Amino acid sequence: MATSSSTLPENGPVEEDEMMFGAESGWVEPLTSCDHLATSLSSDLAHIPTPDTPCNRCQNPSENWLCLCCKEVLCSRFVNKHMLQHFRETNHSVALSYSDLSVWCFTCDAYLNAEVILQLRPVYETAYILKFGEAPPFHIGEHPKVEDQ
Ligand SMILES: [Zn+2]
Ligand SMILES: [Zn+2]
Ligand SMILES: [Zn+2]
Repeated sequence: MATSSSTLPENGPVEEDEMMFGAESGWVEPLTSCDHLATSLSSDLAHIPTPDTPCNRCQNPSENWLCLCCKEVLCSRFVNKHMLQHFRETNHSVALSYSDLSVWCFTCDAYLNAEVILQLRPVYETAYILKFGEAPPFHIGEHPKVEDQ
């Protein structure tokens, strides 16, 4: 049950500038529950597009999000805001970032903790494996083939 520390992905848009850490600036704790998962999650999240899938609308190759409802890949609010537009058009609330695997609920307007929220763990793990080629460190799998560093 050793928790390996070195291979965890950054859990959110961590800025290099953390001098104000602790003040009421950008960083907030991800939520450990969200009322919108029941209506926002696809029933088949075992099969998702690969993390290098471009935005469905503008073909932007990076900073994309995966809609966890319809599995569309769309770009972030820092590119052309296509995932935000998608939420406004469809009310699909929950999306997973392919840049850092964080999960965002547009309705809660907050990050969700995919390691704690059971409904999110399978898709988080699937995305992690697609992105990094191995299971995430917290995963207690039957196959001990992940090498700890
Ligand atoms: Zn786009
Ligand atoms: Zn969607
Ligand atoms: Zn929510």
